[in-house]
Amino acid sequence: MRLVLLGPPGSGKGTQAKMVSEKMGIPQISTGDILREAVARGTELGKKARSYMDAGQLVPDDVMLGLMERRIGEADCVGGYILDGFPRTLAQALALDEILSRRSEAIDLAILIEVGDDTVVKRLTRRRVCPACHALYNLDTDPPKDDNRCDRCGVELVLRSDDEETTVRTRLNVYRNDTLPLADYYDSKGILRKVDGEGTIDDVFSSIMEVLTEVRQS
Ligand code: AMP
Repeated sequence: MRLVLLGPPGSGKGTQAKMVSEKMGIPQISTGDILREAVARGTELGKKARSYMDAGQLVPDDVMLGLMERRIGEADCVGGYILDGFPRTLAQALALDEILSRRSEAIDLAILIEVGDDTVVKRLTRRRVCPACHALYNLDTDPPKDDNRCDRCGVELVLRSDDEETTVRTRLNVYRNDTLPLADYYDSKGILRKVDGEGTIDDVFSSIMEVLTEVRQS
């Protein structure tokens, strides 16, 4: 199963992608995580990506496409994968289809997680992340046990620089203008399904698994 998860920032894409990845035994490929790690390590990729990410803007397509072509060519991707945060523009989706068609492959399903702007702003500005293991917390709904420290590694949690409210609003605009049109693209190919992302993590996961079960049976 080659699956694309679509949704605004804060829709829970990353959390859900991780859960689906564990359930289905296929890798989660999060371009946001790959880029953040590159920034943290100070690699060439990180140097190219940093200013765009801090401003809430998209990293240029040429950078992203080279990165993704290499990643989906790796051995763990043979049985499928879940793309989380890619494609993010129509150009990326078209280029992805081209890369896949050269390998006689295609995206099987795109799931759009729908969430309103107010929920997004509330979730992201209250979100905290562990800089070491990338575990996510929410100060209201899923706080760490020990004051502002990761339950797993004890490292102090941080607010992602792009989770500041003004940057979140920019990211929402970028999502509406550049990424939401992808839903129409996948819909026109007959492979788009939508799920309500306003519920709890478990509710959303159940809806996604229902869709996956239905699609695999059809
Ligand atoms: P995310 O964690 O998916 O919200 O991504 C964080 C940031 O990484 C985005 O705001 C972009 O700056 C960058 N990014 C992640 N994925 C992509 C992509 N497919 N294309 C361009 N930029 C991306």
